[in-house]
Amino acid sequence: MKHFLLKLLVSIITLCAFQFETKAWGFFAHQLINEKAVFCLPSEIFPFYKKHISYIKEHAVDPDKRRYIVAEEAVRHFIDLDYYEKVSPIDTMPWSFKAACEKYTKDTINEYGIVPWHIQTMMNILSEAFKNKNEALILKYSSELGHYVADAHVPLHNTMNYNGQMTEQHGIHGFFETRLPELFSYQYDFMIDRAVYLDNPLHFIWAGIEQGFSSLDSVFGFDKHLRLTTPESKKMSFEQRGTQQVKVWSFEYAMAYHRLLNNLVERRMRASIYAVSCFWYTAWVNGGQPDLMNLNKDILITTQDSLLTIQQNGKMIGRSEE
Ligand SMILES: [Zn+2]
Repeated sequence: MKHFLLKLLVSIITLCAFQFETKAWGFFAHQLINEKAVFCLPSEIFPFYKKHISYIKEHAVDPDKRRYIVAEEAVRHFIDLDYYEKVSPIDTMPWSFKAACEKYTKDTINEYGIVPWHIQTMMNILSEAFKNKNEALILKYSSELGHYVADAHVPLHNTMNYNGQMTEQHGIHGFFETRLPELFSYQYDFMIDRAVYLDNPLHFIWAGIEQGFSSLDSVFGFDKHLRLTTPESKKMSFEQRGTQQVKVWSFEYAMAYHRLLNNLVERRMRASIYAVSCFWYTAWVNGGQPDLMNLNKDILITTQDSLLTIQQNGKMIGRSEE
């Protein structure tokens, strides 16, 4: 019996260690973007965000965790623009949610993703948190807003073929947004302009989406070319993650794709970082520019808000990018 309990304990510890490892790796880019965005902030709000940088970084991934427990969460992370538009520029999709729903019906809009408008919602509730000087909610909504803004800048969050499932390019989602930043972001230039106030946040986010959308040809085209010209044995390799051997895209294969993309991942990450900092700053200005060193720390987060603290388990509800 004693032996059995010991074995059980060891398996639980091993499982926990492994789960932590896989989650942490999958969320690498989001955490990096929130972290780097802090350093683009103007001096009025930089000290506050810098002081809480660990929280802002750690909670950059909460919206993805919520996808395992809240059915409405998935559509907030993407917009399948190619359902409406074939090529850039975006000239058939109205920018406002109301006009888009009138043109395509609310059901359709909800089915094919709402990320630009959810960013707008998140910015408004962050402004409210600033107005109420609610430190807990300012931190929570800043971290989450950063996540959605970053998602909107990933080309594969702008297409129905988000994981290459329609073109026999399965796994391209994680390859592009997780594997490449993990391997190569250490060499990216993260010296980025200081954040500015956004007069038209919706316009700004649509411009970011359009850039990502117009790069989809390269994202899919180069991947297809490599898949067809690289021997199977060279595509994958095994890496040690915690106590597990995990199958991953090989370094050489990832390097070849990264080179063909010609800094695209770096450009999308830089655009994300700049956008995140601009959205935080704009929310603060719209929230009346409160003194962030003098906030109310006693207001508690409501039950609904605390949903984010629920740990990830099981499978994502709705679209899964794994
Ligand atoms: Zn996401």
